[in-house]
Amino acid sequence: AARNGDVAVRGYAPSMGQIFLRRFQLVTHFRQALDTGQVEVHFQPKIALRDREVIGVEALVRWSHPEFGRLDPDEFVPAVEATGLVDALTCFVMERALEQVRGWLDRGLRLSAAVNLSVRNLADEDFPDVVAEALGRTGVPPELLTFELTESGVMADPERALPVLRRLHALGVVLAVDDFGTGYSSLAYLRQLPVDEVKIDKSFVFGMGSDLSDMAVVRSIIELGHSLGLAVVAEGVEEDAVRDQLVGMGCDTAQGYLISRPLPPDRFEAWLRARTVR
Ligand code: C2E
Ligand code: CA
Ligand code: CA
Ligand code: CA
Repeated sequence: AARNGDVAVRGYAPSMGQIFLRRFQLVTHFRQALDTGQVEVHFQPKIALRDREVIGVEALVRWSHPEFGRLDPDEFVPAVEATGLVDALTCFVMERALEQVRGWLDRGLRLSAAVNLSVRNLADEDFPDVVAEALGRTGVPPELLTFELTESGVMADPERALPVLRRLHALGVVLAVDDFGTGYSSLAYLRQLPVDEVKIDKSFVFGMGSDLSDMAVVRSIIELGHSLGLAVVAEGVEEDAVRDQLVGMGCDTAQGYLISRPLPPDRFEAWLRARTVR
C-alpha cells in the first residue's frame, strides 16, 4: 500500500510534512495498539562466548497493525519516544520481560532479560520506584534485569539522568551502554557512569570479518571495557568467523542472527529446549 500521508507510505523520499503526519499517526495508533494486543515483545538470546551457554535475552518490541502490517521499531520507537507514551512502552516491555524471567526461574532456569530505555525514562525521577515495585511484585532478583541505555540518552541531560542511573544501579539491576562506539565522548564519559556493561554497536561487528579498521575498533572497545572492569557484549554477530574472532579477543557475550533472530515467546521456548537438549 502506498497511500499518501498514510503510515503505509513507502518507496520514495517523503517531505517534512509527510514525515510529521506519519509520526503523528504512528503515535496516535500506538496507545490503542498497546491496549488491543497489537504490541508484543520478542526475545533474542545472548550467549557467553566462553562456553556458548545461553545467559539471557534482549526484549524487543514488535507492532503488527491490522491494516498497516508489521511496523519497523526503528521508525515507530523514535516517534513514540518523542512523546510521554514511551513510559507506557517501557513499562509494557519490562513487565513482559520480568514475567518471562519469573517463568524461567520457576523452571530452574536463571536467564536475565535486557530492556531498552529512552531519554525520557532517564529524566523521570519516579522511574526507579516503578522498577523497584515491579521487581518486588515479581520476585525477580535485580541482577537478572538489565537496562540498555544509549550515550545520547544519557548526554541529552546528564544532570537529570545521572541521579536516576545511580538509583537504578543501587537497586542492583545491571546497566549497559548500547550502541557503543557510535557517539563522541565515549571514553571520557564511560568512567563517570555507574554502568556494568558495554554493548559494541553492530555496525562495527558486521564489518570485522573483512574490514581491518572495524576489527581494530572492536578490539579496542573490548580492551577498554575490560580495563574499566566492564563486561563486553557484541551485537550483530552473523557469522561463525566473527564469533571466533570475538572469542579470540576475549569478548564476553554475543548476540546476533548467528545465534538466533528475535523470537516470539513460544518460539523462543522451543529454541531454548532444542538447544539445551543437545
Ligand atoms: P537496538 O537496541 O540496538 O537493538 C538491536 C537491534 O538489532 C534489533 O533490531 C535486533 O533485531 C537487531 N539485530 C540483532 N542481531 C542482529 C544481527 O545479527 N543482524 C542484524 N542485521 N540485526 C540484528 P529491532 O528489534 O528492529 O530494534 C531496532 C531498535 O529499536 C533497537 O535497536 C532499539 O533502539 C529500538 N527498540 C526495539 N525495542 C525497543 C523497546 O522495547 N524499547 C525501546 N526504547 N527501544 C526499542
Ligand atoms: Ca538494545
Ligand atoms: Ca544496539
Ligand atoms: Ca540501535
